[in-house]
Amino acid sequence: MAIVFLLFQSYVCTSNFIRMSSLYFHIPFCRSMCSYCDFRRTTDLALMDRFLECVEREISTASDFLSNRCIKTIYFGGGTPSIFSPLSLQRLIDFASQVFDCSLVEETTIEVNPDDVNEEFVSKLSDTSFNRVSIGIQSMNDELLRFMNRRHDAKQAKRAVDILSKGGFSNISTDVIFGISGFEDTILETLRLLGQMGVQHISAYHLSVEPGTRFALLKKKGALSEISEEESEREFSLVHNTLVDMGFDHYEISNFALGETFRSRHNMAYWTSQPYLGFGPGAHSYDGSRIRRWSFQSVYSYVEGVRYQSEELSSKDLVNELLMTRLRTSRGLAAFEIPEEFRSTILKSMQQFLLSGKLLQRGDYFYVPSKYYVVLDHILSSLFIV
Ligand code: SF4
Repeated sequence: MAIVFLLFQSYVCTSNFIRMSSLYFHIPFCRSMCSYCDFRRTTDLALMDRFLECVEREISTASDFLSNRCIKTIYFGGGTPSIFSPLSLQRLIDFASQVFDCSLVEETTIEVNPDDVNEEFVSKLSDTSFNRVSIGIQSMNDELLRFMNRRHDAKQAKRAVDILSKGGFSNISTDVIFGISGFEDTILETLRLLGQMGVQHISAYHLSVEPGTRFALLKKKGALSEISEEESEREFSLVHNTLVDMGFDHYEISNFALGETFRSRHNMAYWTSQPYLGFGPGAHSYDGSRIRRWSFQSVYSYVEGVRYQSEELSSKDLVNELLMTRLRTSRGLAAFEIPEEFRSTILKSMQQFLLSGKLLQRGDYFYVPSKYYVVLDHILSSLFIV
């Protein structure tokens, strides 16, 4: 009965709502395992149908977590959302639209793998509400793609972007990985080719060797080493300089967009502490105030019924999180956003970085110039409230 009530209760977005919310769907299925990846996912595709039913159930029961049910962005990440037909994912959006007010959604993103993208997939995708596509290209170097155990090659990656562009998608993002020992020289060519392919957004991540991955095993055997700090900084600067020269705006430590229009609104919502609700195993939710929760389960356990862990953030947690999320963006952090209790302490700690130019001020906002993102951890550790 409660579920029926939730499904048909309508919520109207009004101008009284200052903050809007986001929905995240974690699609935990992959056709194979990439060597660097420690995300929650499985290659057991037999669970896919049951999973969709469970997500619908979770939507029905989890909605009360958000007090503001006006949704601004929707994001399907993974795993591999493109393993499902676009229509199956649209059904989840339609189901969610019965519970939340999705009338003002600005951005609906799907992550896709290049090998799933063909004319038929894109034609079906055009019939859905997805208006942004994030492609897991990672590299345009075939040897590196094989080393990472990716299923596609550079030719397929280029074809995927071409088909999507021809299919009318004009907000295309791609992920790339840099900082891989033995492949230091490949990132420049990858970025150059992506620029030629006409993507509007690039997320560039430094490799981190995570426990339990094939790369961790290779590292243990001495077959893979992590690059030095100096080399990391050199590659980071190379990525920054190359993309800025190509006209991209480095608007967040790992993200570059061809102008403000193409920034990820969904991720900006995370970085500006907006409330969000995640569905699927491992997906996190935040009520926009103090409570964060997540389903901690494996995919197998999730399809039996969702369970959550939660935490209440202390005032110190909140202010440290504020520093961590805001200072990784070019927008930065305004003094008035810092809770009064910590404001003078933090402003005092900022002085040394203002003097050295590692922090700059634009109007009310303090921000780290993008060339200093490489030392962001150092800056943050000096500003954190302990
Ligand atoms: S990187 Fe993406 S496609 Fe590869 S295993 Fe991880 S989630 Fe799956």
